[in-house]
Amino acid sequence: MQKHRATALHYDFRLEAGGVLVSWAVPKGPSLNPADKRLAMAVEDHPLDYARFEGVIPAGEYGGGTVMVWDIGTYRLEGDESFDEALHTGRIVFTLNGKKLKGSWTLVRTGDRRWLLMKRRDRSAAAVDIATTKPRSVLTRRLLAGIARDEGGDVAKAATGDPH
Ligand code: MN
Repeated sequence: MQKHRATALHYDFRLEAGGVLVSWAVPKGPSLNPADKRLAMAVEDHPLDYARFEGVIPAGEYGGGTVMVWDIGTYRLEGDESFDEALHTGRIVFTLNGKKLKGSWTLVRTGDRRWLLMKRRDRSAAAVDIATTKPRSVLTRRLLAGIARDEGGDVAKAATGDPH
């Protein structure tokens, strides 16, 4: 999952499947609270090596802004369906083994490109707002402003995505 301060702050959630990163943009980021339903807009697939991209996309290019690798890890599907079947059905249930996000999650399609990302009830569920309590890169420990500073980006704009 990448944290991306582009036109608006969002989190890009990506699952490796079929040789690409199947991707959703999650405006509010993930929640560990099973009562929360987080909008996740399906966006275009990305190449596998993009999963570890952290830096600045130049202003004027698509997605221009600062990108952080907010979480990384592995996942496995729950149930017997293939990823393509689950994607087509509009219900993907999976277990995350990231550095921040763990346990069971569901993505459910509610229309066209609109999905909901939800934590399932298990012992990794919590009321804590993990986007606020764990705001740093899992690769470099930097905040968005630090990435922008190091990589020649817009520091003030990036800083609006960091906790205040
Ligand atoms: Mn993005």
